Amino acid sequence: MKRDYEYIVLGLGGLGSGAAYWLARTAGAEVLGLEQFELGHLRGESQDHSRIIRLSYHTPAYVRLAKRAYESWAELEKEAKESVVLRTGGLDIGPRQSAIQLATYAESMHSEGVEYESLEAAEIMRRWPQFRLTDEIHGLYQADGGIAMAARANAAHQRMAREHGARLKERVAVTDVRAASGEVDVTAGGASYRCRRLVVAAGPWSNQILDFFGLHLPLEITQEQVTYFDTPHLRDFEPGRFPIWIWMNDPRYYGFPVFGERGTKIAQDVGGKPVTLDTRTFEPDPENLRRVEDFARRYLPSALGPVIYSKTCLYTLTPDRNFVIDSVPGHDNVVVAIGAGHAFKFASVIGRILSELAIDGETPSEVSPFSIKRPLLQEKDPTRTYLM
Ligand SMILES: Cc1cc2nc3c(=O)[nH]c(=O)nc-3n(C[C@H](O)[C@H](O)[C@H](O)COP(=O)(O)OP(=O)(O)OC[C@H]3O[C@@H](n4cnc5c(N)ncnc54)[C@H](O)[C@@H]3O)c2cc1C
Repeated sequence: MKRDYEYIVLGLGGLGSGAAYWLARTAGAEVLGLEQFELGHLRGESQDHSRIIRLSYHTPAYVRLAKRAYESWAELEKEAKESVVLRTGGLDIGPRQSAIQLATYAESMHSEGVEYESLEAAEIMRRWPQFRLTDEIHGLYQADGGIAMAARANAAHQRMAREHGARLKERVAVTDVRAASGEVDVTAGGASYRCRRLVVAAGPWSNQILDFFGLHLPLEITQEQVTYFDTPHLRDFEPGRFPIWIWMNDPRYYGFPVFGERGTKIAQDVGGKPVTLDTRTFEPDPENLRRVEDFARRYLPSALGPVIYSKTCLYTLTPDRNFVIDSVPGHDNVVVAIGAGHAFKFASVIGRILSELAIDGETPSEVSPFSIKRPLLQEKDPTRTYLM
């Protein structure tokens, strides 16, 4: 059987669109992308106006990856001639006694030469009087933090992949994947395609695809939600006047300046219930919304207003919340990425790494923390630690 494409990308959400773009920069028309729904659909993980992007992370390795993430977005922006990242500044705040230690974030940034400021509550409120904080709150400010414009970035990756010659097919579900004499056969939408390398970026559907290789990872899918609030203080929450922020405690909350809608956006991280692909709904959870409103009423009251809408979305969580970026054991020609509920900011660089692994078999980025063979992923019922 003749080979149809050098590279096939399975799944064109955030990560797969990134992979299709970076592959197409090198391999052009040798790239096929397959997406089961329409491009830009809302059933996965990647589609909203905004996702947080930041250099502030808890380990130096993540800070290094975040630096390469900004570089990768900048390359896309240059080629696509449009912006997909908006720097608003980023604020990590929380109580001094907290489930998440800001010191680990500060040390990681320091060791990677990233400039940041440590701020006391009074200084935070002087700069952003929108916050109501008591003295036991402190924070870190990093000027590069901001918004990755998710929907727009996905469309830019897809458009530029096509401009480089890639074929992206929507509404074709992959229903079978088989190793075939050192290559891979993929069945989708009634057709069969053979490729030299397969890139899997299937988000919450990852285990369905890994199943073709006899693999099942202990992933937990949760139904998350974000809410847009019709604040009467719109000007106070414009980008430029207000940063993206993360409340560093358990539970963890996060929010955005006004962007994409006529209001603020606030959510709880891992505030959703475990679901399956069959049990997920598109109904927001009122309890989750109540927690978000209670939090904001206390610390950020002027951001609140009538709910414009809450939007559901899925997380695909590994037990340690680290990504999977690796080849499938026993199948070096199949590479896979799973985003663990914080990958959008890295969508372009993860796509780039997947393309490097598929084309060269290696990447300059450190992917060892994201090994599919790490012991925790071999356990059936591992301890889950989602705060990081
Ligand atoms: C509410 C919410 C807030 C978030 N906030 C942030 C944030 O602020 N910052 C951040 O960095 N990250 C954030 N994330 C996480 C980030 O959005 C995800 O990690 C990232 O989008 C994952 O992208 P993905 O491509 O892996 O998954 P998806 O976007 O779900 O893409 C997978 C694609 O594969 C397709 N597919 C699956 N199976 C098949 C098949 N058999 N055939 C064909 N196609 C198939 C699916 O249809 C889907 O389009 C957030 C996520 C949510 C839900």
